Amino acid sequence: MDYTIIQYPALPSAYSPQKPGRRIDMIVMHSTGGVKTGDLWTLSGRDRRHLVSIHYYITKIGEIYQLVQDKDVAWHAGVSFWQGENDVNRFSIGIELENLNNGRDPYPQPQIDAALWLVRNKVQQYKIPRSRLVRHAQVALPPGRKSDPRAFPWDSFIGQVYTDIQPGPPPPPAPPPPANTVLRTALIDAAYRRARHVYHPDWALHQFAFQQRVGPPLIPPFRFKAEGRDWVAEVYGVDAICSPVGAWTDIRRLSQLPDGELKNVLRSQTYQALGATYHSDWAFHQYADGNPIGVPVTETFRLTLGSGETYTAQIFSLETLITPYGQWDVIFPLSNLLDAPELEARDVELRDTLLTRQYQRIGAKYHPEWAMHQAANKLGLGAPLSHQEQIEMGVQDYVAQSYARDVAYSPVGDWGTVKLLNDLS
Ligand SMILES: [Zn+2]
Repeated sequence: MDYTIIQYPALPSAYSPQKPGRRIDMIVMHSTGGVKTGDLWTLSGRDRRHLVSIHYYITKIGEIYQLVQDKDVAWHAGVSFWQGENDVNRFSIGIELENLNNGRDPYPQPQIDAALWLVRNKVQQYKIPRSRLVRHAQVALPPGRKSDPRAFPWDSFIGQVYTDIQPGPPPPPAPPPPANTVLRTALIDAAYRRARHVYHPDWALHQFAFQQRVGPPLIPPFRFKAEGRDWVAEVYGVDAICSPVGAWTDIRRLSQLPDGELKNVLRSQTYQALGATYHSDWAFHQYADGNPIGVPVTETFRLTLGSGETYTAQIFSLETLITPYGQWDVIFPLSNLLDAPELEARDVELRDTLLTRQYQRIGAKYHPEWAMHQAANKLGLGAPLSHQEQIEMGVQDYVAQSYARDVAYSPVGDWGTVKLLNDLS
C-alpha cells in the first residue's frame, strides 16, 4: 500500500534551515505523549513555550504528516549523543508517533504499518544502517531523560524494516561519550529548565549564548517589535540578546547595541520581563547603562540597618547598587564590600543584608559557611538565579546552582569542591 504524505509546514522559527545535501544517516523515533490536535500545534512550532519540531508525524489511524523537510534540521532529540557524536538532530530524521507514551496506550496496526512504510523508504533513500535507527530514549542525554516511544514493539519493528532491503554498512565502533560532555550537557539542560526554558543545542541563540559565555538564562524567551521587525529576546545573567524572527544568525547583545529604537525597546522590555521598570533619569539605571553589571533582578528597594541608617539598593545580576537614602550622586557597588580586607561593623551588616536578600529573592537561604556560596562571592559570580538542584548522573551525582555569570556545581558529598560549567570543555 502507498501512502500520501500530508504537508503541514512548521513555522520557520521552529527549525534550522539547511542547504540541500545535508548529511542524513540516522532516524530517531519518538512518541508525543499527546494527541493529534495538540501534537500538530506543538510540533509545528506554534506553542512558543516549547520550541520543538519534527520531520514526520504519524497518527493512530496511519496518516503521515510532514512538518519539516528532510534537508532541514528539526528540533526533536534535544541534548543527545550517539556513536561518538553530539546533537544528533544535525544528521537525523525525526519521526513522532501519536501516543500518550504512558506504557499502556497501544500503537494500532494502521499506525505501525504507516511507520513501517515511511521508515523503510527513508532507510533505503539514505542508506541508514540498522544501528542508526534508534529510539529517542537511546540517544537522549543525560541517560534516562527520555522514555519515548514507550511500549512500541521495537524489535519486531526493526526486524520488519530491514526485511529484504540492503542497509548501509555499519559504522565503525565509537567510544562512549566523554564524561565531561555528558555532565556539561546535563548542567546546561538543567539551567534552561530552571529558567522555564528548553535548551536547543541547534538553535543559533543558544549556541551564541554558550560561545559568548553570557551565563545561564533567567526567563523564557519573549518577542517584541522594533524598527519595523519582530524580534526574539533571551535574557541571560550577563546580558540580554536578541535576533530578528527568522534571521537567527543575526544576533545582538543589549550591552553592545548603539543608541536607538532597538536598544530602547529591548532594554525596557528586559527590565519589565524581570519585574523592574527602566527610568532613563534614575542614577542606578544610568550607572547600569554605562557599566557591565548585567540586568536588574529586583526593583529598587529601601533597607534600614540596626543603627537606623537607610539605604536604597537595586540588585542587578552582576552587581548590587547601593546609595545612602536620598544621596543619588553617591552610588557604590556591593562588590566593594566583598573585596575589602577589613570592614566596619556597619558595612558588614550592609553586605550580609544584601547577600541574604539576593538569596531570599529566589526563595533560598544564604549560607555564608557553604563552600558554594563562598566561591560565588569570591569569584564574582553575581546574583544566584536558582536553588541548588541535584543532577543525577548515575555513578556520581552533583548539585548545581545557577549564578548570573556561570553555573556552579559540586559532587554530592564533596561539598568543598566547587567547579564552574564554563571550565568544562
Ligand atoms: Zn522524543
